[in-house]
Amino acid sequence: MTSPTVDLCIVGAGAAGLAAAIFSAEHGRNLTIQLLDGAKTIGAKILVSGGGRCNVTHDVVTPEDFLGTRHLVRNVLAAFPVQETVQWFASLGVELKREETGKLFPVTGKARTVLDALIARCRALGVILRPGHRVSEIAYRDRSVESTQNHPAHFLIRHQQGEISARRVILATGGRSLPRTGSDGSGYELARRLGHRVTPTVPALVALMLEDSCFHHGLSGLSHEVEVQTVIQGRSVDRRTGSLLWTHVGISGPVVMDASRWWCLARERGEAAEVYGNFLPGRTLEHAREWLLAQSAQHPRRSLLKLLATLIPERLAEALCRQAGGDLQQASAQVPRTIRDRLLASLTRFRFPVLRDRGWNFAEVTAGGIPLEEINYRTMESKLVPGLYLVGEVLDCDGRIGGFNFQWAWATGRVAGRAVAVSLRATGDEVGPNGEHGEQAVLRQKRR
Ligand SMILES: Cc1cc2nc3c(=O)[nH]c(=O)nc-3n(C[C@H](O)[C@H](O)[C@H](O)COP(=O)(O)OP(=O)(O)OC[C@H]3O[C@@H](n4cnc5c(N)ncnc54)[C@H](O)[C@@H]3O)c2cc1C
Repeated sequence: MTSPTVDLCIVGAGAAGLAAAIFSAEHGRNLTIQLLDGAKTIGAKILVSGGGRCNVTHDVVTPEDFLGTRHLVRNVLAAFPVQETVQWFASLGVELKREETGKLFPVTGKARTVLDALIARCRALGVILRPGHRVSEIAYRDRSVESTQNHPAHFLIRHQQGEISARRVILATGGRSLPRTGSDGSGYELARRLGHRVTPTVPALVALMLEDSCFHHGLSGLSHEVEVQTVIQGRSVDRRTGSLLWTHVGISGPVVMDASRWWCLARERGEAAEVYGNFLPGRTLEHAREWLLAQSAQHPRRSLLKLLATLIPERLAEALCRQAGGDLQQASAQVPRTIRDRLLASLTRFRFPVLRDRGWNFAEVTAGGIPLEEINYRTMESKLVPGLYLVGEVLDCDGRIGGFNFQWAWATGRVAGRAVAVSLRATGDEVGPNGEHGEQAVLRQKRR
């Protein structure tokens, strides 16, 4: 039995796959497009994103907001600037509003608005959505081989319900984060079997768990500004300031989530990794010492705790004092020097005793994946397999918190979608709705 043939098969109907479907359908009006997804319902990750509100993008997006080969990231982002993304969403009926942080959300405050609009546009364009179609293999037919020259399609895609042939394939299978949504990392294996490399994949934008002996349990729910520094093999690789949230198992919040990829990657490579916190961002140990001495001289009877609580949250001050062996109520001028030094060191360079990351069920993104160098950034086409395109999180590029990862998904989806339409137009290769192809399809179009 021959398998049905389509112009384009998109594997994975997440943010990148849906965007790719819309752009390819808009630019190649008569294309037959199928969007296969392994999950029973489409878009689960979009629905949980941004706390159920979907942080669609950010008002300023730069290559520096991403980790991935910079110049390639820059070129892809330039192909779909934020302003165009905002207009595109407006054209789908989704108005976005900017929050103080620069993050853009739908005005409805509901991720459902974004998902429904993407799906509605796909349907209106005639894209066929097929949930419950997990793909297990993508076979490439080399058309330079004589026996396959007359076959209309480059690819044979095997899925849960059977198989399908396609002239072009867009791989949009995402990474490994939140596997219950369907993004279980199986796309990496599909790409590997087609000849692509996959760099080690680790959780990114993930909370970190601390050793049980640390005082985090008592601070659970507390959030404040911290400068976080990650040191790998003795070398500082990342330093950033932002909000840290103490949890019952460790530390989270934007600054920790953004820093986590460094720690996770180092651990994966078996390198020594340490995370330090400066609870007085912008101040050095010496500044802090001067401040404490001056305050003690000015208010000699004020307790150490009271003094510290003018700078950092009282619960944290208590925890740090206790850890340094200090007496919380002791008059600041009488605190022994050893205790004071210990306290100052923890205030400005606290070593978080990180045990592990919280794992894929809690990670928002994947660091690592298919190297961008193996892709033509102008089209997102594979440099190894003609007709195969790769988009979204399956690629080795991860953004920081704030809507950047979705922007990557929309941008790569658009570049690939348009490029597929252009390439099929150039070869006159479209498959008609009745399965005819090549000259037949061209004749059909001429008859219109
Ligand atoms: C909790 C959470 C909150 C987030 N919030 C935000 C946010 O607010 N803003 C932001 O920018 N980013 C956010 N992200 C990150 C963002 O969701 C992802 O970067 C983005 O969804 C990646 O899009 P994608 O299409 O590449 O992959 P995915 O969205 O992961 O989609 C991949 C799709 O491929 C399917 N699939 C996988 N393997 C197969 C297979 N073998 N066969 C068929 N189908 C397959 C999956 O079922 C899935 O539907 C969040 C992530 C999480 C987990």
